[in-house]
Amino acid sequence: MIYKKYGKLGIQVSAVGFGGMQFDLEKSNEENAELLLYAKEQGITCFDTAPGYCQDQSEDIFGLALPQMKREQFYVSTKRTPQHGKNKQEHLDFVKKSLDRLKVDSIDFFHIWCLRKPEHYKEAFISGQYDALQEAKQQGLIKHIVCSSHQPGSQIRDIAEDGKVDGILMGINILNFPYRWDGVQACTDNGIAVVAMNPLSGGAIPSNEERLSFLCEGNETPTEAALRFAIATPEITIALVGFTTKQQIDMAVRVADTAQPTSKAQLDKITQSVGKNMDYVCTGCGYCLPCPVDINIPANMQVYNDKQMFGKSDEDMIKSMKFQNNFGLFVASKAHAKECIQCGQCESACTQHLNIIERLEEIAEWENKADI
Ligand code: SF4
Ligand code: SF4
Repeated sequence: MIYKKYGKLGIQVSAVGFGGMQFDLEKSNEENAELLLYAKEQGITCFDTAPGYCQDQSEDIFGLALPQMKREQFYVSTKRTPQHGKNKQEHLDFVKKSLDRLKVDSIDFFHIWCLRKPEHYKEAFISGQYDALQEAKQQGLIKHIVCSSHQPGSQIRDIAEDGKVDGILMGINILNFPYRWDGVQACTDNGIAVVAMNPLSGGAIPSNEERLSFLCEGNETPTEAALRFAIATPEITIALVGFTTKQQIDMAVRVADTAQPTSKAQLDKITQSVGKNMDYVCTGCGYCLPCPVDINIPANMQVYNDKQMFGKSDEDMIKSMKFQNNFGLFVASKAHAKECIQCGQCESACTQHLNIIERLEEIAEWENKADI
């Protein structure tokens, strides 16, 4: 494992972090907690969770594992949105609730969570969240205030230059890095750590390996290339990976042991190959749900990714719709794209700022042509 300096804080953190949003819920919480302990044994020292992850089980799973680790040997982070609380006291209570669930004496990094536009950042101050976090810091309940953002690079730059957080968690990977690079650069210039979420583009990279072979250097697979990018890029402090199995941890640790930064020539080649297509890819995060008419929005947008990423033809997409309805993503879906009532709820929640309604209209046409 390689370890990196966390912004200007003077602490060293593992270049790979454990993202607690992908636990296998078929397993017991105790079995999932074992996975955290396994990661720790492999040299991972950063553990990230949030209330609500994994049907709200994630913080409790962490609460089973963390007391079994030496406190000075790990860093744990959790989150709340500015909208979660109405005032400072409510936000302070959220910190205490997470402390209680995580079974730790203090939380190393507390995120102002899920900033999708500049107004959300302002809400952290209006809602009393930032004041509450400062007070929590004074009381020793948290150590550092950080945030997570789904905004474009220029808006992340504004947060970095405001200087009120020590780290920014953002969706950055080998396919979409040009979209957020301005923000990454601003963080580096201002001593703010960059934590990368979604290093595998919400599973889009492992599931499209054949078409993404241009990402690779040497004998690596596209998945390994994507991990290497997130782990070895000097401007990225931690690559947060949502692990489900020990094998995935082993792969990330193996990559981290030998990772060399992606070459400039390779980055230029990738930028040319993917162009702007990766800026607007669905990551499968699920923040757009629930939909009032029960459309499985992430499934529809994941199918649409094939058109967005690889420019697939309408003919291919019609075939794909047939397959997904009979055997794939839509087998258990209750509603089709054509049933969208265009309420707009999903678009204002979408972390990738996707034009979901327009995409669903296109998908509805493919459905019609596929006789679905
Ligand atoms: S716009 Fe359509 S897909 Fe989005 S939440 Fe409303 S009904 Fe559902
Ligand atoms: S449509 Fe947007 S919010 Fe929904 S899963 Fe995809 S990226 Fe996430």
